[in-house]
Amino acid sequence: MTYRVHDPDIHWKQMKPVVGECDESPCQLRFALTNYAVANGYQLWVMKSDRHRVIARCGKIYKKDRCPFRVYVAWKYNERTFQIKSICNIHLCARNFNFGTLVSCNWLAKHYLKDIIMKPKMTLTEMKEDVLRMFSVNVSKGQCHRARTKAREMIEGKLEEHYAKVWDYAAEILRSNPGSTCKVGVDSNASGMNYFKRFYVCLKAFKDGWNRGCRRVLGLDGCFLKGQIKGELLTAVGRDADNHVYPIAWAMIDVDNKDNWTCFIELLVADLDLDCSRGLVVISDQHKRMKMMARRGGKIKYVGRIRATHGSISQNVAGADEVVLTCHEKLDHEDFENIKDLQASGYDHGEIVEAFNKRGIRCWLRV
Ligand SMILES: [Zn+2]
Repeated sequence: MTYRVHDPDIHWKQMKPVVGECDESPCQLRFALTNYAVANGYQLWVMKSDRHRVIARCGKIYKKDRCPFRVYVAWKYNERTFQIKSICNIHLCARNFNFGTLVSCNWLAKHYLKDIIMKPKMTLTEMKEDVLRMFSVNVSKGQCHRARTKAREMIEGKLEEHYAKVWDYAAEILRSNPGSTCKVGVDSNASGMNYFKRFYVCLKAFKDGWNRGCRRVLGLDGCFLKGQIKGELLTAVGRDADNHVYPIAWAMIDVDNKDNWTCFIELLVADLDLDCSRGLVVISDQHKRMKMMARRGGKIKYVGRIRATHGSISQNVAGADEVVLTCHEKLDHEDFENIKDLQASGYDHGEIVEAFNKRGIRCWLRV
């Protein structure tokens, strides 16, 4: 005979104990029972709760006309399944939404796990109001504080487990995408512990696609990652034949420093075989990265600096062999001494264009 297995993904209000239902553990069962009680306003009281069984009743006070609801849950014989053995699913009690110890910080933490990941700066007052709105339960700020701490512990524990699998993830990427590049970098300390440093991915399909069918445009940028685990995401993107953004490579790093950027650019240059490239446009908001690229990609002729791309690269750029994307208020590349002078005397488009033309640069873009 097959029994219903508890689905932890159903909406919390729909969780209802049914005889024969199987749970993973007493912990999962208690969570489902609390959801059932909070959704319906039942004053459930867990009479017995140990490694072997859980017995819950409705209402704590023994009296003649007490609510007959009772549930008995125990392990299945010879199986690691916690099963509802018997249940009297009748309530004669009045609805009451003061749950006391039934609403524990563990229960709150489980419900607010996703919210705390998405909104790490959520205040206790906001959380308290949200609990009242969502569950019609009035909890104190202290309970919210304990729940938030518990949730953070759960998240950090989970994320640490995920980071431990980073080598497996890299091996799977290499297995399923032969020819790709995937590098894991860690820092090891004296006690033998490894700390995450960087993770670089460039898939074979993206590599080939860029070399065969994309414009010679390379955008480099990084963004800070928010949430429990901080870090930065570095990306290299190109432009395809339709002028759409084309992903090339990305890397997750612990901190934004020269070492990580150098490693990222070196791997990128090797992957895209940039040493034998003809004209190449590099777009970045950091002059240092341009210099790094220029040093490593031998034939990159012109590099420029822009403050922000805003995702708009002019049609003029498409197809041009040697292009400078530049012309913001700061032009400090050594190739553009004349423009520096112009900069000092004021910002004049006409003169800048003239200066560019003199140097044989075929097109430029102001952003
Ligand atoms: Zn009842």
